[in-house]
Amino acid sequence: MLNQLRDIVEHVSRVEDIHQALEVFVKRTCDAINSECCTIYLSNHQKQRLELMATKGLTFSGERLHIGFQEGLVGLVHRTAEPLNIAKASLHPDFKLFPQLGEEVYQAFLATPIVHRKRMLGVVVIQQKKPRLFSDIEESFLVTLAAQLAVLIVSEQQQGKWLLQERRGTDNVVTGLSACNGIAIGPIWRGNDEPLLSDVSPASAVDVEKDKEWLLVAVESALKEFRRLRKQLDSDLNKDALAIFDLFTHLLNDPKLRGDLLSQIEKGDTADWALRQVIERYSNHFARMSDIYLQQRSQDVRELGQRLLYFLNHSQVQEVKLEKPVIFVVNELTTTLLASVPREMLLGVVSTQGGVNSHAAILSRALGIPSVIGPNLKGVEDGKSIILDGYNGEVLVNPTYLEMSEYQQLLSEEQEVRSMVESELCLPAVTLDKAPITILLNTGLGIDVSYFLNDVIDGIGLYRTEISFIVKQAFPSEDEQVETYRKVLAYSQDKPVVMRTLDVGGDKSLPYFPMEEENPFLGWRGIRFTLDHPDIFLIQVRAMMRASIGQKNELNILLPMVSGTPELDSSLSLIAQAYHEVALTYPQVKKPKVGIMLEVPSMIYLLPAIAKRIDFVSVGTNDLTQYLLAVDRNNSQVSELYEVVHPAVLLALKQIQVACEDANLPVSVCGELAGDPIGVLMLLGLGFTQLSMSSANVANIKYVIRQSNLEDLKTLANVATTQSYASEVHQLAFDYLEHRGLAGFVRPGKH
Ligand code: PEP
Ligand code: MG
Repeated sequence: MLNQLRDIVEHVSRVEDIHQALEVFVKRTCDAINSECCTIYLSNHQKQRLELMATKGLTFSGERLHIGFQEGLVGLVHRTAEPLNIAKASLHPDFKLFPQLGEEVYQAFLATPIVHRKRMLGVVVIQQKKPRLFSDIEESFLVTLAAQLAVLIVSEQQQGKWLLQERRGTDNVVTGLSACNGIAIGPIWRGNDEPLLSDVSPASAVDVEKDKEWLLVAVESALKEFRRLRKQLDSDLNKDALAIFDLFTHLLNDPKLRGDLLSQIEKGDTADWALRQVIERYSNHFARMSDIYLQQRSQDVRELGQRLLYFLNHSQVQEVKLEKPVIFVVNELTTTLLASVPREMLLGVVSTQGGVNSHAAILSRALGIPSVIGPNLKGVEDGKSIILDGYNGEVLVNPTYLEMSEYQQLLSEEQEVRSMVESELCLPAVTLDKAPITILLNTGLGIDVSYFLNDVIDGIGLYRTEISFIVKQAFPSEDEQVETYRKVLAYSQDKPVVMRTLDVGGDKSLPYFPMEEENPFLGWRGIRFTLDHPDIFLIQVRAMMRASIGQKNELNILLPMVSGTPELDSSLSLIAQAYHEVALTYPQVKKPKVGIMLEVPSMIYLLPAIAKRIDFVSVGTNDLTQYLLAVDRNNSQVSELYEVVHPAVLLALKQIQVACEDANLPVSVCGELAGDPIGVLMLLGLGFTQLSMSSANVANIKYVIRQSNLEDLKTLANVATTQSYASEVHQLAFDYLEHRGLAGFVRPGKH
C-alpha cells in the first residue's frame, strides 16, 4: 500500500493544474482501493457549504454541486472532523440523497476530512455498490492520502496558483492572496498580449551568424531597457526594488549565459528556439534548488527570457499609452511589465499566477501598489470598473452601490493617512513626552540617498552583506567588496553604518557554494561558516576597513549568529589581525567598533560576561524568536506558532535591555519587530531607544512614535510581560493604537 500511496502522491504533484491534479487523485485512489467511486468536496466557509470539485463514479454535469455543512453524511464528516465508515449509507440517520449525482447505486461509504492545521479544507469520499465496511487499512490509507492532499491544496493556494473561488452575497467577490495591502477602484486593463517563450517551437537557423547577431542585439536592447527602467524608478522611495534590475543586468552580463545561448545557436537552432531551451535549462536548475530564495529566482530567469524574446521581436520598447489610471490585469506580473506602466497610471494589479514572494510582488509592495494574486477575471471585459481589496486579497467584480461607497470611504481615509504620514517623514521621531528615538535603516542593496539628505533616518542599523554575495557567480574579491562597502559608507555621509559579516547558511545559501544539511537553521550558519573559512572572513573585514578610510562616518562591524564566547574571541582576534594587515599599508585606518547580533538565546545569559569585549549589541528578533520558541521562521506549517509578541520573547527582550543598560552597552533592535507598530510600542516600553527597520516602515513607525507617550508605553509593556498569551499582548497594544486613532496601521489578521 505504501507504494500505491507514493505513486498517487507523485502523480498528483506532477500535474501543474490543480483541477487536473484532483481528477488524477480520484481516479488513482479508486484504482488503489478497488472501489467504484471517489469524490472530493472542498469547503466554502463563506457560503457554509462543501463544493464538489472532482469525482469518479458520480454524475457530475460540470455545474458545481454543493452540500451545506449541515447536510447529509458529507456535512457530518465536515462537522465532526472525523472519518466515517458505514456499510449501508442509506440506513444512516444523516443520509441525504442527492438524486442528480446518481448516488443511489452506492451503499458502502467511507469519508475522511481534509484538514490542514485545524482548518477544514474539505472531505474526500469513497463509495461502493456492494454494502461492506471498509477495512482499517483502507481507512488509514484514505486518511493518509487526505493529509497529503491538504498539503498540496494549501501549497497551491500559498503560491497563488489556485484558489477556491469563493463568492459571497451578490456573487461578485473573487478571492485571491494579498501581495500588497491597499484599495484600488477603477477600470481593468489587460495590456497587450506578447508571444510567450513557452510557445516558441523548434526551428533551424538559416544563417547561424545572423541569428547570433540577432540575439546579441536583443541582449543589448534589454540591457538598455533595464538601465532606463532603473533610472525611471530612481525617484521612488524604496531602493531595494531597484536591485531586481541589477540582478537582470547581472544575469545578462554573465558570460556563461551568453556563451550557452550562442553555442545553442551554433548547434543550428534559431535565436528564439535557442533562447527558450537555455532559459528553461537555467530556470529548471534554480527550481530544483532546495533554498527557497534561489528557487524563486527560477521565475526571474523565465522573466528575463520573456524579455529577451520581446526584443527578438521588437527593436525597441513600445510605450504604454494610457488615458486614465487603471487596474492592471495580467497572467503573471513581471517586474518589467510593472515598471513599464507609469506609476500614476497604476491603481492596482491583479495577477492570475505568481507567488506572494516573487520579485514582482516585492516590487509592487516597494512601490505601494495594491495587488492581489490568484483571482481569475476571465470573462470580465476590459474597461469594467472593479474594486481591488489588497488587505483581504479580494476583487469585487460587480460591486453594489453600498459596497462602492463603503470602499470609496476607506480609500479616501487611506489616502489621507498616507499623505499625512508621508508629509511628516522628515519630522523627528520623538514621543509626546519628548523622548527621542533613533531610527536606523535595514538594507542590503541600494540605498536611498534622499533619506540621508533629508535627515529622515539616523544611520544604517543593519547592512546585510550576504545579499551582494548571493547575486554573484563566485565569492567577490577584496577589491570588489571594498567598492561595494565604500558606496554604502559614502551614501550614509556622516551617519554611522553597521555592517554585518556574511550571514549565509539557514535559508540563505550561495549559488556557488551549495550546502546540504538536515537542520540548516541549527547548522553551518553565520559566524560558524565564516570562522571555518577565515580567508573569507579576513577578506571581508579587511574590505570593510579599507572602505572606511577617508569616510566621514563610523564603521561598526556586526557578527551574526554568535552562540558562545569562543566564537566571539576567534572573531575578535581575526578582526584585530585584519586591522594590523590593513594598517601596514594604510596607517590612517581607524579601528572599527565590533558588536554581536543577539539572536541565539544563549547570548542573553552571557551578556554580562562578554559585555566588556564588545562595543554594541543588535537584537535580531527574527532569529531570536525562532530559536526561543523553536519555530522555523520560514515554515508555513508552524507559522501560527511564530508569535512575535509572545510573552516569553518580551521577557527575553527585557532581560537583554536591562543587561545592556547595566553594562552601559549601546543596543538596537534590527529584526522585523522594530518595523512593526505593535512591536515598536513594546520595544519602547521595554526601554529600547534605537530601532532599525526597512525603508518601507520608516514613515509609519516615526508617526506612531510621535503619537505615543513613553511613560504610558512603559506601563503597557510591564502589563504585557505578565500575560500568558501573545493574543493578549497583541490586544493590549492594539487597544492602545486604537485609542489614538492608529488602528489603521495594523494590518487585519496580521498577528
Ligand atoms: C534577525 O534575525 O532578526 C535579523 C535581523 O537577521 P536576518 O533576518 O538577516 O537573519
Ligand atoms: Mg538573523
